[in-house]
Amino acid sequence: MTMQLFARAALLGSTMLAAPAFAQETPAKNVILMITDGAGIETWRAASYYRHGALGHEVYDGFETKLFSSTHPLNTSIKPTKSADGTVTFEASRLWDKTSSTATFEGKLGNYPGFFAGYDYTRADYTDSAAAATALATGVKTYNNAINWSNDDAALKHIGEHVVESGRALGVVTSVQWTHATPAGFLGHNASRNEYAALGKEIVESGLATVIMGAGHPGFDTDGKPVAPADEKAYRFVGGKEIWDRLVAGETVYRHIETKADFEALADGSLDLAGKEKLLGTVQNGLTTQFNRAGVGMGDKLENQPDLSTMAEGALQLLSKDEDGFFLMVEGGAVDWAAHANNLPRIIEEQIEFNEAVEATVEWIEKNSSWDETLLIVTTDHGNGLLQGPDSNTVAYSPVLNQGAGALPLVRWNSDTHTRELVPLYAKGKGAELFKDLAKPDAGLATYGVPAESQVFVDNTDVFRVSMEALGLDQEKAASIAN
Ligand SMILES: [Zn+2]
Repeated sequence: MTMQLFARAALLGSTMLAAPAFAQETPAKNVILMITDGAGIETWRAASYYRHGALGHEVYDGFETKLFSSTHPLNTSIKPTKSADGTVTFEASRLWDKTSSTATFEGKLGNYPGFFAGYDYTRADYTDSAAAATALATGVKTYNNAINWSNDDAALKHIGEHVVESGRALGVVTSVQWTHATPAGFLGHNASRNEYAALGKEIVESGLATVIMGAGHPGFDTDGKPVAPADEKAYRFVGGKEIWDRLVAGETVYRHIETKADFEALADGSLDLAGKEKLLGTVQNGLTTQFNRAGVGMGDKLENQPDLSTMAEGALQLLSKDEDGFFLMVEGGAVDWAAHANNLPRIIEEQIEFNEAVEATVEWIEKNSSWDETLLIVTTDHGNGLLQGPDSNTVAYSPVLNQGAGALPLVRWNSDTHTRELVPLYAKGKGAELFKDLAKPDAGLATYGVPAESQVFVDNTDVFRVSMEALGLDQEKAASIAN
């Protein structure tokens, strides 16, 4: 008893020195951020209807913190402007404007009628995944295209760097290329998200993360079949040919794996790390684990691809060896791609795979950690497709229509690209209540049929703030720019 008290006092003492703002309480050991890329609320609901025939049965439906988040960027330039000109403003009330609109939204797939002024508003000045990842990872809004890069043209220090400095381990898992915007936002820095090879090189050579997993394999096509890499460009998603060759040869800090069997062995703890302490897994697919396979329907998934749950479990297996704790980002990356394609069966398939990964993560927390030491945040980086019900042309924000489990709900796509709608954010565990302290009310959210306590929203930059505060890390220091 005495020893325990002494140990606790010592721990509190050191915490006080490290983080005065959070001195009264022991900080969270782990933060897990799960992002389904490009999923407005009706995307989540469509998946739940297909999966359960009803809402309320997903594991995150039971979390105590259920609110919304704004996602708009600083500006929609594709490079630093070093100016306040073009700064995007956001007024939540304008989303709900039911004034009829004769505007047309010109998408890549075709034209989408305006219907309502609120739709016009949500379809304008939206973020891309790079600016969104930067907001989530650094707490700083920036221009579209930036990977932890400011509008003043300087690198921004991201949460992965803060957590590693704190002695914790960093992990990043995605179903798309591991150099794609969202994963790169927790690993690297670049003025442009399209500099995949440079980002890949930085990610491997920095050795910052303990675990990295995703697709983008240069030797496999989008059906998971072997192909000979045609040229240097084929290696862009993995840092270029030289980095790839060193990675595969075991000449970096990372043990490299790529077969489904190895991902499964990592998840069950039987994988031999060949003397390494860090792991990088490149799934045998040139783009994303499942979405870009032949066809447009559900089912007949590629058999040689690990699912997102297995990848998340593998990452947790390795990260939890660090006694100081960890930060893990898990992304269901192709939900966004299915929305860009207005592909309902595959967006549901991808969202369900994401939901299953959330369930696997919750199970891991409850078995191997606890809600007293781990914070889990489940959200998306922006809406995409303005997916709504078939009547959403006459009734603003009319919801998708349930057709029962195993049947596709009835929907209407109102866009084929990103939006600035308010998106769901769920949290549970150590520090989850911090979101409620930061949230602002928006009565318009009643439109989504959510209870009064959920008619509030934070900003995507608050994900960084809450994560840092939960981890007991100094946000004053964090606000400074890295280099
Ligand atoms: Zn995105």
